[in-house]
Amino acid sequence: MLLEGKRALVTGSTSGIGLAIAKALRAQGADVILNGLGDPDAIAALQEEIGAEFNGANLMDAGAIEAMFAEIGAVDILINNAGMQHVSPVEDFPTEKWDAVIALNLTAVFHTTRLAVPGMKEKGWGRIINTASAHSLTASPFKSAYNASKHAVAGFTKTVALELATSGVTANCISPGYVWTPLIEGQIPDTMAARGLSREEVINDVLLAKQPTKKFVQPHEIGELAVFLCREEAGNVTGANWSIDGGWTAE
Ligand code: NAD
Repeated sequence: MLLEGKRALVTGSTSGIGLAIAKALRAQGADVILNGLGDPDAIAALQEEIGAEFNGANLMDAGAIEAMFAEIGAVDILINNAGMQHVSPVEDFPTEKWDAVIALNLTAVFHTTRLAVPGMKEKGWGRIINTASAHSLTASPFKSAYNASKHAVAGFTKTVALELATSGVTANCISPGYVWTPLIEGQIPDTMAARGLSREEVINDVLLAKQPTKKFVQPHEIGELAVFLCREEAGNVTGANWSIDGGWTAE
């Protein structure tokens, strides 16, 4: 198996895309540490199903991230995937929601990266993969905090890639278009309100309208792209922002 002997932390992996990435890495033999929020029994069942460790650090808290790394030690693969969305016109955007989106989608990525890099450098091998978004390359209205955080993550990733270029550690973004997960489902009511549309209109005229394939991206497709970026053959792929968006950002 490709990733036998590699230890991988996947943030935000109790649901959606992170869970699919965790399963894909595990299927290639990696030892996986899940992270995220959720019902303890459901998380225990996931651990059992995948055969993974779990650390429930709240990534909005820098101290909790430091405690998590003190507990789990060095990792070979860091998948920064946890994220959240809030949909609102900028003039009404609740400031506490702005702070929360930036804390989780951006600042947590800085903290996990700074804590993971020394161990990777010491081993002369590492993979940092940040789940950004098509919204790291383009924008949509009413998602000011999310668009700002994802553009920033893309820039942060390039800087880290350059700093680590000769160390055997790569840093890349994966940028999905719309993937049917709880994050997308959760933003439909606010998008209906912000745009005055029905649920079907939001799905077909706002979400899938962006994707020339007219299909949602599937979480397991993102898992396989993450596996590719972890391969030895991807050692020269660094500082890249990989779109997996049904052609959205080609337009
Ligand atoms: P999701 O809501 O299904 O999963 C989010 C995960 O983050 C969950 O495991 C949740 O428990 C965890 N999380 C939330 N707050 C946390 C916190 N404070 N501390 C630790 N973990 C926390 O969402 P998803 O759609 O799978 O999104 C995953 C990533 O993909 C996000 O970064 C999102 O921005 C990005 N993304 C999603 C889509 C999409 O269409 N779904 C598109 C592009 C990018």
